[in-house]
Amino acid sequence: MREALLRWFAANGRDLPWRRTYTPYEVWISEIMLQQTQMDRGVSYFQRWMERFPTPEALAAASEEDVLHAWEGLGYYSRARNLLAAARRIRDLHGGVFPGRREDIAALPGVGPYTTAAIASIAFEQPVACVDANVERVIARVFDVDAPVKEKNAAARIAALAQELLPPAQARAHNQAMMELGALVCGRKARCEICPLADFCLSRHLGIVHERPVPGRKADTVLLDVVTGVLRHEGRIFVQKRCDRGAWGGLWEFPGGRVEPGEEPRQAVVREHHEETGFAVRVTDDYGIIRHGYTTYRVTLYCFGVSLDGGAWATDAEGLPVPPVLTAASAYRWASPQELQSLAMPAAHRKLADRLFAAAPGPAQASLI
Ligand code: SF4
Repeated sequence: MREALLRWFAANGRDLPWRRTYTPYEVWISEIMLQQTQMDRGVSYFQRWMERFPTPEALAAASEEDVLHAWEGLGYYSRARNLLAAARRIRDLHGGVFPGRREDIAALPGVGPYTTAAIASIAFEQPVACVDANVERVIARVFDVDAPVKEKNAAARIAALAQELLPPAQARAHNQAMMELGALVCGRKARCEICPLADFCLSRHLGIVHERPVPGRKADTVLLDVVTGVLRHEGRIFVQKRCDRGAWGGLWEFPGGRVEPGEEPRQAVVREHHEETGFAVRVTDDYGIIRHGYTTYRVTLYCFGVSLDGGAWATDAEGLPVPPVLTAASAYRWASPQELQSLAMPAAHRKLADRLFAAAPGPAQASLI
């Protein structure tokens, strides 16, 4: 079975940029980037990333702003912040050289047991099995694991089987072959007719491939109604930088938040703006709806243009209102359209920014605001 798998991988493994030299830095970045990301998309982000931050030292020297901007669109921004923190740890504790000891790899921020095993085996050829969702599925089918793969006993059995299967001297090829097989052949819809493990696969022999893996309990989908307001003043747009916690920590956004029960989106955006910035605003434009999904959330984002609601505003030297009272952010900026393009934003806010500028491309952008 091992030989059949390795032969198949040698002939069918995809030619991916990090599979050319297997430097630990490249393997690490690819592993973090490919979590929750499609391969094609991951490869183009990876190539741009390597041009921008070719070594751990280059990454360690970058600003958080630059790193988040390079990550923009991949979501789960704590991963980008952890990459930066880990690169700085590599620089400070390991002289800029990616560590090979498993406990040192595991101590890097954002590196959990799976990623530790992936880096240790793929970059350093250490004999440790990797178990990702693809491997779980392949093992559950080949060995007919008859419980959901995340259930404690089933997970332990899968981990033990994965380790038992591993040829100690070929951890790099074997682990990648297992994951690749799960991605290309033994996917949600199994392609048993072209599978190198068909002769060894219990589920196939029993005719129960469609029943493996046993489905686990599905997480409930949460529907969220959220508002955001684009506040303009004297040719600039107000944006705020989210506090460092949470999925979008450190990213720039237009103020806003959840619609409360019984509230209209227009009311919510006025309330949220006031709560988050202290500014009293009124709605001037309706920019429509942006729908966005992540993990188990389905977000409907109601987008508005807002302006300051009367009153005499204290202004700074540039004539911009001061100071906002920030309650959900660590910094703010009155950004020009050009600056807005260079800030890292959550996907839905980026869509809104792009939509605003697409409406008036080129020099007319300035007149839009
Ligand atoms: S034979 Fe089918 S079910 Fe079994 S490992 Fe191959 S593709 Fe998956």
